[in-house]
Amino acid sequence: MTVITRFAPSPTGLFHAGSYRTALFAYIFAKQNKGKFILRIEDTDKERSKKEYEDNIIDSLKWLGLDYDELYRQSDRTDIYKKYIQKLIDSGHAFISKETPKEAGDRAEVIRFKNPKKKVIFNDLIRGQVEFDTTELGDFVIAKSLEEPVFHLVNVVDDHEMGMTHIIRGEDHISNTPRQILIYEAIGAKNIPIFAHIPLLLAKDRSKLSKRHGAIPMTEYRERGFLPEVLVNYMALLGWHPADDREVLTLDDIVKEFSLDRVQKGGAIFDEEKLKWFDHQYIAKLNNDEFQSHASPFVPEWLATSSPLFKRCIPLLREKISSFGEIPQLLADNGELRFVHGLKDYAPLSLLWKKNPKREAALVHLQKVQELVMAIPDDSFTAESIKVAVWNYAEAEGKGDVLWPLRMALTGQDKSPDPFTSAFILGREETLNRIHLAIKKLS
Ligand code: GLU
Repeated sequence: MTVITRFAPSPTGLFHAGSYRTALFAYIFAKQNKGKFILRIEDTDKERSKKEYEDNIIDSLKWLGLDYDELYRQSDRTDIYKKYIQKLIDSGHAFISKETPKEAGDRAEVIRFKNPKKKVIFNDLIRGQVEFDTTELGDFVIAKSLEEPVFHLVNVVDDHEMGMTHIIRGEDHISNTPRQILIYEAIGAKNIPIFAHIPLLLAKDRSKLSKRHGAIPMTEYRERGFLPEVLVNYMALLGWHPADDREVLTLDDIVKEFSLDRVQKGGAIFDEEKLKWFDHQYIAKLNNDEFQSHASPFVPEWLATSSPLFKRCIPLLREKISSFGEIPQLLADNGELRFVHGLKDYAPLSLLWKKNPKREAALVHLQKVQELVMAIPDDSFTAESIKVAVWNYAEAEGKGDVLWPLRMALTGQDKSPDPFTSAFILGREETLNRIHLAIKKLS
């Protein structure tokens, strides 16, 4: 038996975390069983389905690396559903029902399923045995007309026609399953797929994550510069974890180790802070070339990512950011790395250490630091070597007294990295220029 799973989104909104996790679990299960993964766009609701949402789903799956083996669109399959509806009517499992329209636009006629009103039992791979008496469901609607089937019917017909072996989907569909099983039986399906209803994603306040509440579209994470591998890794751990509690896992690792019986029953919380933590871990592991290419769309034009200046910013950026989209704010006009772009004019008095604001002292310290920095050769001009050169003097004279004027001289900003890091980024020549300028301001 070849395992076949699917992801069956309705294109009625942007593709967000909840749907993504469902798609991911179905994908992983298919891959680990060397099976097939199908994407099926469930667009029978003509009013709410939009092409732009379908595009957004396809685009997001591509970005995240979840490739599917086949793609279907329910709006292309009306003829198939029509045959099934007709067959159900002919066999007495469905009937044309006369309705009393209550509102404008209501139908005078729909097609209803003849509910046998019985107990349905199925074994859910995650929830265990589920029992449901279908009596209260009545004769539910399966189509508005032969050409207009609705959700339950198309969902079942497709899963049947496509040979689905496992239906892995959100827990919100568990209450639909009994109706759907009745339809499988009525169409004479020999094999009813195995169901696995995965727990819902919750927002941090434990309420349901929804389009209106906390669910951010995947494409927005892409725009914010998150790495797709990070979303794969983080989302796989929402409701599942490997036996050994490792957290940083590639898709290959996950495919190897995933198992539906380790999926928890309770809701899983989507926590953006944790997602950022993952992204930070992944960024730390990128080599400089990878870092540069990911950063490139986010770096302002004045800082060419191929320049040595940018390369010298990489260690600090790595440490500061939890997604590449945070780079622009660091380099913005009021950002911590603004000084990289050029020195803003600053008042000479701001060079004085607030606890000992003496002009003469600041001047002497800057002159001494200038000498110490000058002694470092260009090819060993690193944050560490600058620190080593200046540290003893700063300790002896007072760290604030020595390092504050230096920090101000280099950046002209109150909020800036430590002066050794700033000097390294600026490079030896620019560092000496800026110290020289500060000395002039104080003289
Ligand atoms: N189209 C349904 C939805 O988007 C999914 C149905 C299913 O997975 O069975 O919620």
